[in-house]
Amino acid sequence: MIYKKGEKVLLPQDLHIHTIFSERDDSVAPQQTIELIDQFRYAEKMGISDHFEHLSDPDKYIKSVKSLRFYAGTEVSESTGFNDAATVDFDYYLCHCRDKAVDYKGVETLLATGKPVIVAHPMALGADPAKLPTDAYLEINNRYIWRNDWRNFFTPLLPHYKFVIGSDAHQPHWLNQNIARQVVRELGIVETILF
Ligand SMILES: [Zn+2]
Ligand SMILES: [Zn+2]
Repeated sequence: MIYKKGEKVLLPQDLHIHTIFSERDDSVAPQQTIELIDQFRYAEKMGISDHFEHLSDPDKYIKSVKSLRFYAGTEVSESTGFNDAATVDFDYYLCHCRDKAVDYKGVETLLATGKPVIVAHPMALGADPAKLPTDAYLEINNRYIWRNDWRNFFTPLLPHYKFVIGSDAHQPHWLNQNIARQVVRELGIVETILF
């Protein structure tokens, strides 16, 4: 890519962005609204992925998110959320997956919707990749990737999975994927662009 001075360079994709719709997430800054993110669009494909368990009215949330031309996703954060989330017409799912049978089954439930399913920051939650379906995408994100031994965790998985990069932004200054992108370059991963 040839960068011209002053030109805005967009990231290819960020589908892991939280806003104040994640009502009970203390990390979300009160200024982190969909309107603010719309004002600072920084990626070609952008999706909002607020915690499913925090959405008091998922259909209203989807309508608001789509009104600003974002993809409407959600992050299923609790084992109890998988079945209900699968009944709502999101564009895609992120989900937490801990090393528990109910969570692996939950990933399958989401995949059965036919929508893209991204396992959020799998290394941070202790999921055993051998038990994850390979048609789920694995996420590498800026919030967690630097905390553990990403090289050892991801290297054996490279031939088997496709990967998605996200910011997991909860605050305006997290709207950034630089660390995640460095990891992806070093591992030689080709990013999968979903939309
Ligand atoms: Zn998460
Ligand atoms: Zn998140």
